[in-house]
Amino acid sequence: MSAQTPPTLLKLARQALLRDETLDMSALDKLPMELLPALFKEALTGRHTTTVKAMVAAWPFPCLPVGALMKTPYLETFKAVLAGVDTWLQRKFHPRRGKLQFLDLRKKYHEFWSIWAGVEDGDCSVENQDEQQVVKVLPKYALRLLLKVVADLCLRPRVDDEQTCFLQWAQQRKGSIQFCCMKMTIWIQPVHVIKEVLKVFHPEHIREFELNTEWNIFMLAWFAPCLGQMRNLHKLLLAPVSKNIKIGNRTTDMEDKCINKFISQFSRFNCLQHLSFRRVYFLRNRIKRVLSKQGWRAGCLMTPLETLSITHYNISQSDLNYFSECPKLFQLKHLDMKGVGLKALDLMPLRVLLEKVADTLQSLDMKCCRMKDSHLIVLIPALSKCSQLAKVSFYCNDFSMPILRNLLQHTANLSKMNVEQYSAPLECYDDFGYVSTESFTQLCQEMKCRLRALRQPKYISFATNMCPRCGEPCVYDQEFRLCHCQQR
Ligand SMILES: [Zn+2]
Repeated sequence: MSAQTPPTLLKLARQALLRDETLDMSALDKLPMELLPALFKEALTGRHTTTVKAMVAAWPFPCLPVGALMKTPYLETFKAVLAGVDTWLQRKFHPRRGKLQFLDLRKKYHEFWSIWAGVEDGDCSVENQDEQQVVKVLPKYALRLLLKVVADLCLRPRVDDEQTCFLQWAQQRKGSIQFCCMKMTIWIQPVHVIKEVLKVFHPEHIREFELNTEWNIFMLAWFAPCLGQMRNLHKLLLAPVSKNIKIGNRTTDMEDKCINKFISQFSRFNCLQHLSFRRVYFLRNRIKRVLSKQGWRAGCLMTPLETLSITHYNISQSDLNYFSECPKLFQLKHLDMKGVGLKALDLMPLRVLLEKVADTLQSLDMKCCRMKDSHLIVLIPALSKCSQLAKVSFYCNDFSMPILRNLLQHTANLSKMNVEQYSAPLECYDDFGYVSTESFTQLCQEMKCRLRALRQPKYISFATNMCPRCGEPCVYDQEFRLCHCQQR
């Protein structure tokens, strides 16, 4: 194939090949390599299952990121890909050098297809560097001998057909293929099912793990050793979806043991950067054990965190006190405490933390923390130093007009600020807690003008609490949007 061949001819050639029912592995082995990526794309989108299967079996590149092309699921082509892998495994002789090492089923963009689109456009100078270029986009672990299959898994009570088919297929081939799951999300599955899946997809490969379960603390303790094996986790979200997991202020000895067993696994995460706990009631009074070096087991959380998200449950004063002492938090970029009731707490430790992260913190979410003026006044001196802050949210707190003015005055020099969300001042409500639209519009406008005089806000909004009648807030951003009943 000449370098100057016009793309239209290539397209015609591909169409002719796709019409050829006799196209098999031996014919594919003889085709120019640069023709194959585009041919494969067309075979896949055209649902030519026989050709897809033959092409996977004859694939001459080390990498086949097929998931990027399968964002719209179609079970038959997916099965054809898996059947192609089976044939590939059975082939004794692979005539081309760059034998398949890595099958990527993740449904995300992959550089491979862009590189080869360049070749399709006639830039054949890439031809001699093809393997080098492709290898560049391969993760390190793909360069070993066994074929690796990488996938993201979302385990729900009713798993979709494609994933059911894939899990069964993987289960039967766990001896001959190395399976890696990079991102695993679990939605309410029995623990034993997840343990079976983790026998095929070894926990040490998981980078992102999300646990949204109804498991009680005894089940979590049973699962704990699997969690501990996820040594390469970068991102962890724990979010029990049911109140079944709620544990009162007093726990039994047995519950304590289970909680401690679960928390002790945190010492094994070598490279955790993003940690989120949503409604994890049993961690109240135990944050230090999760984050501390001197915690349950020496060496908890080896790396500094970029994201800490503790939301929708109440932490204790001792939890908050530890925020100011924990070096693992001193490089935070994102702090999310939405829905954490702070009304009864002394926020001085939070102020100390904000001072420590003043050069790194980019986003701060303190929605629905029920803070009052006396809380915000503690935080303002530290907030004014957070030079990297680009996004703040203080929706659903109880602040008066003077303290909001004070806040805006003190954050005037934060030049990176993109998104600012404030709760509407208390002066907007009448004695019965209903919003007075007149005060709301007038006070919000005044604050926006005030801020405009200090710096150019990019996106600023004010919102009232949820209206007790219709359950919606009134919002002022580019315009006023009143709650449902105020619109009438
Ligand atoms: Zn309303």
